[in-house]
Amino acid sequence: MDTSFFVAWMEEIATAVQAQRDHLTQLDAAIGDADHGSNLDRGFGEVRRALADSPPETPGSALLLAGSTLIRKVGGASGPLYGTAFRQMGKSLGDVPDVSLAELSTALDAALAGVQKLGAAVEGDKTMVDALAPAVRALAQAVQEGAKPEDALSAVAAAAQEGARATIPLQARKGRASYLGSRSAGHEDPGAASTALVLSALRTAGFR
Ligand code: ADP
Ligand code: MG
Ligand code: MG
Repeated sequence: MDTSFFVAWMEEIATAVQAQRDHLTQLDAAIGDADHGSNLDRGFGEVRRALADSPPETPGSALLLAGSTLIRKVGGASGPLYGTAFRQMGKSLGDVPDVSLAELSTALDAALAGVQKLGAAVEGDKTMVDALAPAVRALAQAVQEGAKPEDALSAVAAAAQEGARATIPLQARKGRASYLGSRSAGHEDPGAASTALVLSALRTAGFR
């Protein structure tokens, strides 16, 4: 996976987030403040612009630029969390020009560690961690089994989607939704839903 793959990933995310903007905002209206779709749509639009303005030379620098842009342009909880995730991925990749599946797995693990260090959420707290953590495990397993890249990325997408759906019955223990207590149960977490979009876009970036 080369620099153009990672730029394509960011473009696929921007497209998916724009298409799902209202859906993400509806999820956030139920248990938050109804801004998750607009936060991410604005943020990934800025990421697309930043990458076009300063074309990155390595996968790592593409992800560092994406992360810094999200931190700068998106307020709320999700901007710094997504920004940290991409920055940690970028740092993990260093300046390798072509990323192996194993290196992507290590980088995604670093993203999860960064999100958990910043937000202190564990699995089951009804946050983006509930989609990210199973996806990290799915990729590690695929690497261990020597899976083909397209199968590995499909496994990542499936694990994230399943993790996001599994947040529906949970009671939120982190973020704005936690203020609702038991009333947060019965709704999918918006950040977990967007994380499933972000990770599913890896697969579409690979196939286009
Ligand atoms: P805000 O809640 O500030 O309006 P967003 O609506 O953009 O920000 O994002 C909300 C999402 O952020 C939640 O659905 C949840 O997935 C995620 N989130 C909030 N707090 C945390 C945290 N401490 N750790 C991980 N994810 C979190
Ligand atoms: Mg919100
Ligand atoms: Mg907000």
